[in-house]
Amino acid sequence: MDTIADANWVDHGAAVIHPFGEHIAYFTLFAIPLLTITLTKTASIVAFAGYVTYIDVMNNMGHCNFELIPKIAFSIFPPLKYLMYTPSYHSLHHTQFRTNYSLFMPFYDYVYGTLDKSTDTLYEKSLEQKDESPNVVYLTHLMTPESIYHMRLGFASLASKPYTSPKWYLRMLWPVTIWSMIVTWIYGKTLVVERNVFKKLIVQTWTVPKYKIQYFMEWQREAINDLIMEAIIEADGKGAKVLTLGLLNQGEELNRNGELFIKRNPKLKVKLVDGTSLAVAVVLNSIPKGTTEVVFRGNLNKVAYCLALALCHKGIKVAISRSDDYQKLKLELDSTHGHTNMTLTRTCSQKVWLVGDGLSKEEELKASKGTVIIPYSRFPPNNVNKYCFYQTTPAMLTPKHLENVDSCENWLPRRVMSAWRIAGILHGLEGWNVNECGNEMFNVETIWQASLQHGFTPLTLPNH
Ligand SMILES: [Zn+2]
Repeated sequence: MDTIADANWVDHGAAVIHPFGEHIAYFTLFAIPLLTITLTKTASIVAFAGYVTYIDVMNNMGHCNFELIPKIAFSIFPPLKYLMYTPSYHSLHHTQFRTNYSLFMPFYDYVYGTLDKSTDTLYEKSLEQKDESPNVVYLTHLMTPESIYHMRLGFASLASKPYTSPKWYLRMLWPVTIWSMIVTWIYGKTLVVERNVFKKLIVQTWTVPKYKIQYFMEWQREAINDLIMEAIIEADGKGAKVLTLGLLNQGEELNRNGELFIKRNPKLKVKLVDGTSLAVAVVLNSIPKGTTEVVFRGNLNKVAYCLALALCHKGIKVAISRSDDYQKLKLELDSTHGHTNMTLTRTCSQKVWLVGDGLSKEEELKASKGTVIIPYSRFPPNNVNKYCFYQTTPAMLTPKHLENVDSCENWLPRRVMSAWRIAGILHGLEGWNVNECGNEMFNVETIWQASLQHGFTPLTLPNH
C-alpha cells in the first residue's frame, strides 16, 4: 500500500518540486497534528492510530481512479459534500492542476473559489459508467482461501509471479482471510477478476466463489453447478459469444464436461467450450520427435481419452498403467477405431510419461533418469523427481497484443495461458459458434493451426 507521502510523491510532485522535497513536505504537513498532541501531552494511541488510518484510507481512496462513493451518502447527509472528497473530485486536481486543491475536505475549495466547475458533472458521469460487455468469458474458481492474495485483486507482487507454494507470511493475515471467506459465502455470485483485450475481443475472467477443495465434496456439487449455470446465463445476457469452463468447472463427474448446462438450458446463445481440442493439440506437439512409446499415468479424463486415440492413430504405442482404465479405453477405441496398439503395462521404463491428476509421489519417483513428464491435467503433478524433465500443464505463450496481462495464471509463468483458456479466445476470434463440451470435441488440427495463426507460441523448454 502507498503511504500518504508516496502516493502524492508520484503524482503531485513531478510537476511542482523535486520528488524528494515533495516527500519531506508532505511528511511534515501530515506530522503537524501528531507533533502538536505529543508536545502538548494530549496524545493517545487511539488518536495516533485513528489519525494515521484516516489519512491513509482517504488518500488511497482519492487516488484509486474509480468513483466509488454512492450518491446516497450525499443525499442522506448533504454537508458531506464539504467534508469528504471523492476520487473523481481529486482526479480534476491532477488533470486541471489549478483547481480542487483540497485533500480530503473540499470545504476550502468552496471558500476560496478554487472548485472546478465540472466537479459535479464528472462525479455523476463516473458513477453512470456501465460495465463493458465481454465477448469471451473464462470461468475459473478459487484455489484456497489464501490464493486471493495471488490474484490481481490481491497483492500485485504475488500476482505477477507463478504460484508455487503458500507463503508463510500470509498466515498472519488470517483475520482478513476469514473475513474474505465470509464475504465470498454471503455474496455468493461470480466475480470478475481479470479483463483482457485481444485485438478487438473483450475477454474477461470470472471466478466462481468456491474453493478447489469444495469441488471434491459431493454435497457441494449442486450448489456449484447452480453457480456455473447462473454465470452462463449472465454471460448469455451480456451478449458473450463463448464461455470457457476452466479448471474443475468442467468436471466429468460434476457436470459431464458441461453437457448438463446445455441440457438444462437449450436456448442458450452463448457457446460452451471446455477446450479439450487445444489441450490435446498442445500435448501432442510437446511429445519429443521420434517418440515411439508413451505411457499414461494418473487419472484418465476427456483429454487423455482423446490423446490416446490420436496417438494410436499416429502409430505411437500407448501403454496404460491402470487395468480398469485400460479396459474402458480399449472398449471405446475398439468400437471407433478397429485395431489399436495399446497395451497394459506394469513397468516404468517408458521415456515419455503423460500424466493426469492423482499421481502419487512414489509413482513419480519411479520414473527413470531423463524421462519427460508431460501433464495433460489441469493441475501440475508433484514435481518431485529431479532426474526428470517436467513440462507445464498444457499452455502456450500469448502474443504481445494481448492487453492487461498483469497477473500469472496460477502456476504458469508470466504471459503464459492455459490451453483451455486460449481455446475459448480462439472460438471467439474465429466465430466458430459451436459447443465443445460433453462428448463433443472440436477438430484438433484446426484449433492448433488457429492458435499459431493468432500468434500463440508453443512452450519449447522443459520446465525444470
Ligand atoms: Zn493526488
